[in-house]
Amino acid sequence: MNLVLMGLPGAGKGTQAERIIKEFHIPHISTGDIFRAAIKNQTEMGKKAKSYIDAGNLVPDEVTNGIVQERLSKDDVKDGFMLDGFPRNLVQAEALNKMLADTDRKLDAVINIHVSPDVLVDRLSARFICKNCGATYNKLYRKPKVEGTCDNCGGHEFYQRDDDKPETVKNRLDVNIKLNTPLVDFYKKQGVLHNINGEQDIDKVYADVRQVLTSLQ
Ligand SMILES: [Zn+2]
Repeated sequence: MNLVLMGLPGAGKGTQAERIIKEFHIPHISTGDIFRAAIKNQTEMGKKAKSYIDAGNLVPDEVTNGIVQERLSKDDVKDGFMLDGFPRNLVQAEALNKMLADTDRKLDAVINIHVSPDVLVDRLSARFICKNCGATYNKLYRKPKVEGTCDNCGGHEFYQRDDDKPETVKNRLDVNIKLNTPLVDFYKKQGVLHNINGEQDIDKVYADVRQVLTSLQ
């Protein structure tokens, strides 16, 4: 089966991807990984991407699409794949449809792990750090054993990195939401979108994902 996995930062996409790969043995195509590989192996598109990155510019869609196309032409994805981190916008989504159609393939499902922005802000801004020893904690998942006291050094002062502050997190999310929303609509219109409630317990999220994937087999 040919899949796209979508989810905003903090939605738990990584965890779900791991479980899907483990159970369904689908090659996982993460854009980050294939970019690094294309550059390292100096493929035609890899070289192009590198020239943009070295110049400090954004890699244009046509190059990103080219890297994905190179990856999708390999033998190991003939029976299926799971794209992760691609497409990021409508131009890329249209290009993906075309490259699949050109090779007599189509997308079977787009799994969108949906979590409301407020919950995502809470999740992504939950990290805090001990001022004294640098131990990292999380308000949701890893609190100090005694509130206000560092497990590691007994310190009482904590801080948040700028990147983890709610305002910064919110801005980062807004950028992603602007990109994501048209994509979700696009795939909904195509009838391949499966919205999964990502605010549930991780096991329940996976159970819902699993149900969609088994229905496709
Ligand atoms: Zn400490």
